[in-house]
Amino acid sequence: MTRRKLIAGNWKMNMKTADGKALAEAVFDKCRPGLPFDILICPPMSLLGTIAGMNRSAGAVGAQDVAEAPKPAGAYTGDISAEMVKDLGAAYTLVGHSERRTLHGETDAVVRTKAANAIAAGLTAVVCIGETLAERESGKTLDVLRTQVNGSVPPDATAGTCVVAYEPVWAIGTGKVPTNADVAEAHAAIRAELGKLLGAETADALRILYGGSVKPSNAAELLAIDNVDGALIGGASLKIEDFWGIAETQQ
Ligand code: PEP
Repeated sequence: MTRRKLIAGNWKMNMKTADGKALAEAVFDKCRPGLPFDILICPPMSLLGTIAGMNRSAGAVGAQDVAEAPKPAGAYTGDISAEMVKDLGAAYTLVGHSERRTLHGETDAVVRTKAANAIAAGLTAVVCIGETLAERESGKTLDVLRTQVNGSVPPDATAGTCVVAYEPVWAIGTGKVPTNADVAEAHAAIRAELGKLLGAETADALRILYGGSVKPSNAAELLAIDNVDGALIGGASLKIEDFWGIAETQQ
């Protein structure tokens, strides 16, 4: 099965209006129909409507999170539902990014609820998983990933409604990346576990992204590894030269 690569930028809590619009414009400018890969940018919620509403011929926009609340509207101060994100014109949302898991105490169960809310609203959920340095050093990486897949991915997910992003926590924003063999092993284990959860056909079609210190200089190599179907990019998604430098390796 050939899976179309997805190059996704997570802007985190960066960019005010002028800079965010300029960066999105620069990305959309390069997103010509006919590109051999898909592009996704995930601006902060403050800019989601503005950027999702911008003219473009290709390129998708996503949120970085959606509410866990069981209803699409109601007394949930400060929360933004998946329905509201969809209403703004977004097509995707991240869920379970390691910064949400660490800084906001999100468990696998919370992440799965958010992913299910996203899917119910018509969004594609990018479910983020990954081991900590302590877990890697104690040889628990594959067990952690299997547990996170089972706990965070809704059992009715499909290749159209769900993407998994493997992001070793210790590789995010640190400049460190796992070896190619480690990435290959992790992605193969994730796909095998998805096969048990969703069935072999769905697991085969579902995209698994690698995230963690991806930059133009290492992108071609990382994206050539078996079962790596794209990249989730933090720091390097904030500069058009870097973000497009990564995407261009897939031309
Ligand atoms: C991320 O935050 O999802 C990420 C991968 O960050 P960075 O590319 O900066 O490591």
